[in-house]
Amino acid sequence: MDVRPNPDRSVAIIGGGPAGLMAAEAASNAGARVDVYDAMPSVGRKFLMAGKGGLNLTHSEPREAFLSRYGARRAWLEPLLARFGPEALRAWALGLGVDSFVGSSGRVFPSGMKAAPLLRAWLHRLRAAGVRFHMRHRWCGWDENGALRFATPQGERAVRAGAVVLALGGGSWARLGSTGAWVPLLAAHGVRVAPLRPANCGFDTGWSEHFRARYAGQPVKPVVVVYAGPDGIESRQQGEFMVTATGIEGGIIYAFSARLRDEIEAKGVAQLHLDLAPGRDLARLVQELSRGRGSSSMANHLRRRAGITGAKAGLLRELLPSEDLADPARLAAAIKSLPLRLIAPRPLDEAISSAGGVAFEDLDERLMIRALPGVFCAGEMLDWEAPTGGYLLTACFASGRAAGAGAVTWLENA
Ligand SMILES: Cc1cc2nc3c(=O)[nH]c(=O)nc-3n(C[C@H](O)[C@H](O)[C@H](O)COP(=O)(O)OP(=O)(O)OC[C@H]3O[C@@H](n4cnc5c(N)ncnc54)[C@H](O)[C@@H]3O)c2cc1C
Repeated sequence: MDVRPNPDRSVAIIGGGPAGLMAAEAASNAGARVDVYDAMPSVGRKFLMAGKGGLNLTHSEPREAFLSRYGARRAWLEPLLARFGPEALRAWALGLGVDSFVGSSGRVFPSGMKAAPLLRAWLHRLRAAGVRFHMRHRWCGWDENGALRFATPQGERAVRAGAVVLALGGGSWARLGSTGAWVPLLAAHGVRVAPLRPANCGFDTGWSEHFRARYAGQPVKPVVVVYAGPDGIESRQQGEFMVTATGIEGGIIYAFSARLRDEIEAKGVAQLHLDLAPGRDLARLVQELSRGRGSSSMANHLRRRAGITGAKAGLLRELLPSEDLADPARLAAAIKSLPLRLIAPRPLDEAISSAGGVAFEDLDERLMIRALPGVFCAGEMLDWEAPTGGYLLTACFASGRAAGAGAVTWLENA
């Protein structure tokens, strides 16, 4: 298939998320005529949603630690992040009039915490540079002549472009536009795509009806979550998580979610341990809980002797046999290390991001698909994953920039 029937300096960007818009900017800055196509009525919907809870743009930790967050895909992303990493991203945002600050966790947020001002200024600048936007254009692949096929409210449209950047996102929160429907379109052209899987996701635990009815929606905090995966590496994090109708979710759980998901996939189950009384010493807890409870209820006993209330007390009742609840030593041990079985990750659509995607091995260093000369890929649709902390957006921006610039270089040399 020839996707470049009209060699010129036109670049079609498909997908107007952070990766696609950054590709559009890079291609436009390099002198290309740029058209952005998106299936939705407006661009950047997931980016705007990310801004709802406080947009975490990037992270300020040292380079080595930052790069380690990309795990097995680090080697592929490192050259892209070397060209457009956290510092460059902050400078870029400042260029759009949006200053940023480092939070206490080292995470970087735009002042104002929102995505909307940044997106507004960015779209204004892109339009002023001549970038054209075509909304409600759902890409459906290529026709027999190599033209891009779009489904639009006016019917199907065929578009020819010198080069194409696909920035179609992963498969989570499909209602915001990234549906993952592109997977078979690329697979049909022999492009290897690792199945899209939930990343930064919650998990099902199989709560009893009683526990679910009482505690769904309640936070468990402070808590230390400990996970020792099959690799033997023990990780622990203090923070909080939320009890949901089916299990647990929240930032502290997302931090372990890739390893938990992989273990469940391999073994059908994974196990966390919860320290429900961080900072309290086990021996002291045993001593406290050994003091007779007299006529007071178990709830009062736990509150007074161990500071355990609400969903924490509910978890002990849900997960411990009654003999353990009645035994001070066993109860104290459970408070410090309560095993919690996870039986399934929540579905991809609910996840913050997707793992899986287009294999880096099928791309060249400019992010062009080797089997489809002139077609580039960027953003979450590539096969990498990272925890929350700004790593997702940083890699989307960096890969978008590389793909947009790469498309123009390719056009120039074609
Ligand atoms: C609730 C939530 C909060 C988040 N918070 C953060 C955060 O604070 N920090 C962080 O780093 N990351 C965060 N993320 C993740 C981050 O938003 C994504 O990783 C990022 O938006 C991915 O960018 P992208 O450009 O690759 O894809 P997307 O942003 O998903 O954009 C893809 C675009 O492609 C379009 N598209 C898809 N298929 C087609 C098609 N066939 N034809 C035409 N157009 C199509 C879609 O409409 C969409 O506009 C959050 C995600 C969620 C869901």
